[in-house]
Amino acid sequence: MTVDREQQLRDNLAQLRDRLTRAAEAAGRRSDEIELLPVTKFFPASDIATLYRLGCRSFGESRDQEATAKIAELAELSELAGDIRWHMIGRIQRNKARSIGTWAFAAHSVDSPKVVAALARSAQQSLDNAARSAPLKVFVQVSLDGDESRGGVDVDASERLDALCAAVEDAPALTLVGLMAIPPVDADADAAFARLAQERERVQQWCGRQLELSAGMSGDLEAAVRHGSTCVRVGTALMGARPLTSPPEVTRVTPSSQTTKPGHRSSPHEGSSQ
Ligand SMILES: *Cc1c(COP(=O)(O)O)cnc(C)c1O
Repeated sequence: MTVDREQQLRDNLAQLRDRLTRAAEAAGRRSDEIELLPVTKFFPASDIATLYRLGCRSFGESRDQEATAKIAELAELSELAGDIRWHMIGRIQRNKARSIGTWAFAAHSVDSPKVVAALARSAQQSLDNAARSAPLKVFVQVSLDGDESRGGVDVDASERLDALCAAVEDAPALTLVGLMAIPPVDADADAAFARLAQERERVQQWCGRQLELSAGMSGDLEAAVRHGSTCVRVGTALMGARPLTSPPEVTRVTPSSQTTKPGHRSSPHEGSSQ
C-alpha cells in the first residue's frame, strides 16, 4: 500500500461523503439515513484494508469467487476486527448462492425463486452452525426496463415481484429489507428512480413496514437520493476507474475478457456473472 493510494482513497472518501451530504440536503433528507456502500470489485484486498482503517465497515462485491478470496486474505490481517459486512451486489447464480449465504451480510441482487430458495437453505445452515449470527438481508432487484436478462424482476410484473418478496419474507433465515435497481443505460435517472420508488411504496403497503432502497451509483447518486435511496453503491467515484482485468487470483481467460477493448471501462454489469 503506497502512501499515495491511501491519500487518494482518503480524499475520494471525504469528497464522496460531502457529495452525499449535499445530495441529502438538496432533497430535504438527513444524510445519516443513507448508507454509503463502497464497491470494491476488481480492486485488491489491500484497498479494502485501507478503507477499513479510514472507517469503512461495509463493502460491495459482485462475484462470489472474488469476494471469498478477499475475505480470506483480510482474515489473515490480524489488525482487522471481524466486523466487516460484505454485500453481494452482482448477479447471483444458483450454484453460487450456497457460498454467498455463508459470507454475505446482505444480498442486493436477488431476482428469482430458485436463488431465494438456495440462499435460504445456505443462510439457515450457517445460522445453525453459528457461522452467521443474523439472517441474510435481502434486496429484491427490479428491472426498470423489463430486460430481465440483465438482472431483476420486470417492474411491470408486480405479481411475480410480490411473490418473490413474499418468499423472502417466509424464509426464517432471510430478511426482506427492500428493493434494488440499476437504471437502464441512457435512461433518465430521475424517471427510473421515480418508478422504483413507486414500486417500493406499493410493496410497503402490503408488507406493512418501511422498506429500504438500494439505488444510486457514482454517476446518479443525487437522483437516487431525491427518490428515497437508503443505500448508494459507489465504485468509480471512490476507487477510481476499474482495472481492465480481474484481480490475479480470479483471472480466467473467457471469451468476454478476450474481446475487452483497450481503454474500455467496465460497466456495472460486466464480470457480474460467473
Ligand atoms: C459496479 C457496481 C456499482 C458501482 O458502480 P460505479 O458506477 O463504479 O459507482 C454499483 N452497483 C452495482 C450492482 C455494480 O455492479
